[in-house]
Amino acid sequence: MSVSSSSTNSSRTLKIGIVGFGPFGQFLAKTLIKQGHPIRATSRTDYSQLCVHLGITLFRDMDSFLESDNDVILLCTSILSLSEVVRAMPFHCLKRPTLFVDVLSVKEHPRDVLLQVLPEESDVLCTHPMFGPESGKDGWKDLTFVYDRVRIRDEATCSSFLHIFESEGCKMLQMSCEEHDKLAARSQFLTHTVGRILSEMEINSTSIDTKNFQKLVQLKESTVRDSFDLFSGLFIHNKFAKQELKNLELALDKVKQKLLERMNEELDLSVSNH
Ligand code: NAP
Repeated sequence: MSVSSSSTNSSRTLKIGIVGFGPFGQFLAKTLIKQGHPIRATSRTDYSQLCVHLGITLFRDMDSFLESDNDVILLCTSILSLSEVVRAMPFHCLKRPTLFVDVLSVKEHPRDVLLQVLPEESDVLCTHPMFGPESGKDGWKDLTFVYDRVRIRDEATCSSFLHIFESEGCKMLQMSCEEHDKLAARSQFLTHTVGRILSEMEINSTSIDTKNFQKLVQLKESTVRDSFDLFSGLFIHNKFAKQELKNLELALDKVKQKLLERMNEELDLSVSNH
């Protein structure tokens, strides 16, 4: 793992094609447009009105999207649909070697799919911006951007792409996809799981909230704002997540056991005092 404050000083304008124009694709697009990069998009859903509003060219068919000569193709689909979306791409429509970048919240899965499916001449950069529409709504300064240069030959294009995040003040962190998944299972997946559990419990603010309870309510609310597809992708496509779920269950059992043991000790004490 390495932190880089200036992985690049290059700042070329890039033609960026976004695949998957859902919440996160739209969120990224706003900053890319602000920086002056021409943006094109394609998605399962028809986002024509939004794209007109944002000044983005929307392609309804993948052939013309790939023919539109992008420097970078930015994959922002759900974790669960990536494989299906990429396998359906007519790569013969690409006009030249292209940099493919994914932003999925798991990293080994897209790395494996992209290396397996993309044409050999395409470069691959696997990334995970560790922020989203909520945490990044006031800018990206000091927010972490994780990346792994999986297969890069066109250094200039890769550097220009990384510069987008660097110039917004992101903390740039180069890390292997495996290391990312190991850490994310213990942090992001755990956070989402606890948030979902709190949502199942239907916790809500009370008139006597403590500060910490308010944080739990906030966690519940921000977790359920992300799609269930995203949450299940964190579990299904991160090989470290299953163990973390087991750890959570074991930990709950241990805490329960400690409480029951203590209760029994107290009961024994009160019986022997009488
Ligand atoms: P998401 O629910 O994970 O993904 C929604 C996107 O996936 C939409 O563009 C949707 O297309 C597309 N999609 C879903 N099923 C599809 C299918 N069967 N075929 C084709 N496209 C399909 O929500 P998201 O928040 O926008 O996240 C997008 C990606 O960014 C995910 O991989 C996520 O892990 C990653 N990410 C998200 C955040 C965040 O804060 N939200 C942060 C970092 C990374 P349509 O909209 O056209 O239906």
